[in-house]
Amino acid sequence: MIQIAVIGSGYVGSVSGACLADFGNQVTCVDNNTAKIESLKKGIIPLYEPGLDTIVERNIRAGRLRFTTDINMAVKSNGVVFIAVGTPPAEDGSADLRYVEGVAREIGRAVESYTVIVDKSTVPVGTSRLVTKWIGEELKQRGANIPYDVVSNPEFLREGSAVQDFTHPDRVVIGAESDRARKIMKEVYRALYLNETPFIETNPESAEMIKYASNAFLAVKITFINEIANLCEKAGANVQDVAKAMGRDGRIGAKFLHAGPGYGGSCFPKDTHALARIGRDCGEPLSLVETTIAANERQKRRMVDKIEAGLGGPGSLPGKTIAILGLAFKPNTDDMRESPALTICEALVKKGARLRVWDPAAMKEAAWRLESIKDAVYFAEDEYDALKASSALVLLTEWNQFRNMDLQRVKDLLTLPYFFDLRNVYKQEEAEAAGLRYFGIGK
Ligand code: NAD
Repeated sequence: MIQIAVIGSGYVGSVSGACLADFGNQVTCVDNNTAKIESLKKGIIPLYEPGLDTIVERNIRAGRLRFTTDINMAVKSNGVVFIAVGTPPAEDGSADLRYVEGVAREIGRAVESYTVIVDKSTVPVGTSRLVTKWIGEELKQRGANIPYDVVSNPEFLREGSAVQDFTHPDRVVIGAESDRARKIMKEVYRALYLNETPFIETNPESAEMIKYASNAFLAVKITFINEIANLCEKAGANVQDVAKAMGRDGRIGAKFLHAGPGYGGSCFPKDTHALARIGRDCGEPLSLVETTIAANERQKRRMVDKIEAGLGGPGSLPGKTIAILGLAFKPNTDDMRESPALTICEALVKKGARLRVWDPAAMKEAAWRLESIKDAVYFAEDEYDALKASSALVLLTEWNQFRNMDLQRVKDLLTLPYFFDLRNVYKQEEAEAAGLRYFGIGK
């Protein structure tokens, strides 16, 4: 049985730790946030991720999963140490590596015998070498000569389906220089190896690049269909029909072809910025990625213009109350990092609107993330409460419970019948049959 420490127990660390324990490994999850660890110890998950509670509880009970704030002890007593701390964007768009460096140095100060350090955080190309250097410097400081290897093992899970993604990945990427480390990584992922999950073995630089290139490609794909949607509106085409037919082409694929208010979340925005920055630094600017970043910003603003135009044009927002359904950047998560809802809500308030907002999981997040506009925001009890006395409904996140609303009731609750469906959930005919004035994306 492999003994693993996972440093950082956020969206990635807690899911990775719990699932690695479920694979039969002995796992200690570490975080420097005491409240988070105390909560996890009791089996209470401090974030919204479907299915995670069951797997955490099962593995705590089986004695395979523990939680601690003591990184020193966790590093000393485990042969494999995953780094899963955040890599938020720095001022200049590059990935801020201060948490990774902090953990690497703590590992260097604590390690006592051969250890494989696994970088699971999304980090710029070359970071595995930096982690090797930071650990080496700490060991030198101690006068210690302890062997170690650093492996890049990027994570591709999606919030909302993270447990399923971790346990059934499309591929596992292992970027390593040493055979010893590679062999240990295969043991860590033995459960996946046995069920023939594709393993991509490469060097650390390629592994790091694979993660950024994958996320940037998906961001480009979303942005492409958003731009096609904008064109469809002018050209009299319907982007849903266009995307459906495009997606049937095996070379294109149907996923990530849903037009909407722009991508958000904790990964695509920061990872596209970081990759663009790497390109510039290497003298190989990634013009497609740079353009995608700018187009995505425009798309979010365009949604505000669409709402304002729909409600009567410039100057139509003051005095209006707008119901916002969905605040998380996508369904099945409470994560609002870089959610388009933030830009759109702030811009609507700036233009004079008042908001009644509701999200099935993100209300706690919203309370502080919408702090700057809180005087103009009512935090509703549910979707129908948000609609009361509102002049318009804006559907921003396609939670399942928003997919089957009673449109007649929606119409009756609104003071004016405007419905901006920014996720193309409803058909124009059904909304109009209920007496609503319907505005979708790209149709
Ligand atoms: P997060 O902010 O949810 O979690 C990071 C955790 O690390 C926090 O709980 C924080 O308290 C902890 N931490 C920071 N410094 C620490 C230290 N010195 N010691 C112990 N704990 C420390 O972040 P996340 O969403 O889990 O992302 C982590 C990394 O994984 C990022 O690089 C991200 O890009 C990458 N990633 C995220 C996703 C995703 O969907 N969220 C998917 C794939 C990859």
